[in-house]
Amino acid sequence: MTPPRIAIVTGSTSGIGLAVARSLAEAGHAVMMNGFGDPAQIEADRARIETETGMPVAFHGADMSDQAQIAALVTATEARFGQVDIVVNNAGIQTVAPIEDFPVDRYDLIMAINMSAAWHLCRATFGGMKSRGWGRVINVASAHGLVASPYKSAYVMAKHAVVGLTKTLALEGAEHGITANAICPGYVLTPLVQKQIPETAKARGISEEQVVRDVLLAAQPTKTFVQPEQIGALAAFLCTPAAAQITGTALPVDGGWTAH
Ligand code: NAD
Repeated sequence: MTPPRIAIVTGSTSGIGLAVARSLAEAGHAVMMNGFGDPAQIEADRARIETETGMPVAFHGADMSDQAQIAALVTATEARFGQVDIVVNNAGIQTVAPIEDFPVDRYDLIMAINMSAAWHLCRATFGGMKSRGWGRVINVASAHGLVASPYKSAYVMAKHAVVGLTKTLALEGAEHGITANAICPGYVLTPLVQKQIPETAKARGISEEQVVRDVLLAAQPTKTFVQPEQIGALAAFLCTPAAAQITGTALPVDGGWTAH
């Protein structure tokens, strides 16, 4: 039995993060959700997870590209639940474009949300985990933290960096009961992927149907999308005592993509 812990899951108003928030609550952890979206929908999701799991679930709308708001997220979580034991760095965005056309403002935003936010949130919570002798850092990286695809220069760069952060924190936490792991999903059909289908079609000059068949699922030997719940289940497992010796890893959940 896993003792109840306090988790922050960034970007948990949608897709993978929402599934991770639910899985952690189902495993008996209190959860601070975070992300953007329609306030009524966010409240409905928060309340549903709380009601269905019986665990307290709160929400904070910090913009993870803003260091001050990341600090406010931690302060709010500590005020509500007392401490932070589990950090799931999941918030992320994507832009698909050849590097010579890549909008610089999107590069800056991708690096801020997909990479720097994880560093800032870990910096703000790691000391507490160390002092209590238990912690879990789970970075939702990507298969693109391990391998590259064209037209995703900023995203691939940020995700590789997150894998590097994961390894470093595994070493820093190893004697303090803290593990740090990256989960590296292949393609999961979330709004993030739905949005890049037309962008990829434009960048490659092909139809959206060809993008799904010949670009997205072509890389994934199972030829089916990964389910958000499969990422949630792995995140919950990483918080169990059975996973205490799993640290510093980048775990692919990619239907065999990175076996190529
Ligand atoms: P999604 O678009 O469904 O969800 C992204 C979440 O991040 C949302 O909750 C959104 O509100 C939040 N977010 C975006 N910008 C934010 C900001 N500035 N501050 C706070 N929250 C912000 O996408 P998803 O597919 O569920 O992606 C979640 C993570 O999984 C991302 O890091 C993504 O890179 C990674 N990932 C996704 C896939 C995939 O195929 N979908 C594959 C590999 C990795």
